[in-house]
Amino acid sequence: MPLLACPLCEKEISKRAHSCPNCGEPDPFRYYSRKSWVERIIWTVVIAIIVIYSWVELLPMAIEALR
Ligand SMILES: [Zn+2]
Repeated sequence: MPLLACPLCEKEISKRAHSCPNCGEPDPFRYYSRKSWVERIIWTVVIAIIVIYSWVELLPMAIEALR
């Protein structure tokens, strides 16, 4: 059975382990993909807020400047 380091506690555990016997992380090898998935949603929301804010705040200023 191939052994891989747990992404959280870095102890070697079986690749097929459904949870880390050392730190108890459920599904340790999906930890990073789960994390990046959450990060992507957070960044999408942050960028959307920035775009909407700049649209609402800067567009009237830009129209004003063009006059
Ligand atoms: Zn672990």
